[in-house]
Amino acid sequence: MSADCIFCKIVAGAIPSTQIYADDDVVVFKDINPLAPVHFLIVPRAHIESLASCDASHQALLGKMLLLAPKLAKEQGLAGFRTMINTGRDGGQEVFHIHVHVFGGGTTLPKT
Ligand code: 5GP
Ligand code: ZN
Repeated sequence: MSADCIFCKIVAGAIPSTQIYADDDVVVFKDINPLAPVHFLIVPRAHIESLASCDASHQALLGKMLLLAPKLAKEQGLAGFRTMINTGRDGGQEVFHIHVHVFGGGTTLPKT
């Protein structure tokens, strides 16, 4: 847990969120500022700064996070979806606790 990390606070339940899934490793909640009719974030409980700070020890967790995308997208009624992992300030990352965005039902993001 990182004291000034908003996602650590959400994972700990100190800040409310609309949770759609949780287990021992991962919490999934709706984005507060959705860029699509369905927009949720797959977030590990552990404070990991970004994809760039991951190594082989994170392989199983990263695989688990990715495989949750189609499962939860289906549960949310999506026939298809888009995933995004922003990495580093230059990659558009604003919250430095790794997360996978999942968008569905149309998106305001550009295709490339
Ligand atoms: P990033 O740019 O880091 O990839 O994305 C961070 C995302 O977290 C943004 O889409 C933003 O709307 C979302 N976000 C930031 N603060 C909160 C919050 O307090 N609650 C929720 N549910 N989402 C948040
Ligand atoms: Zn954190």
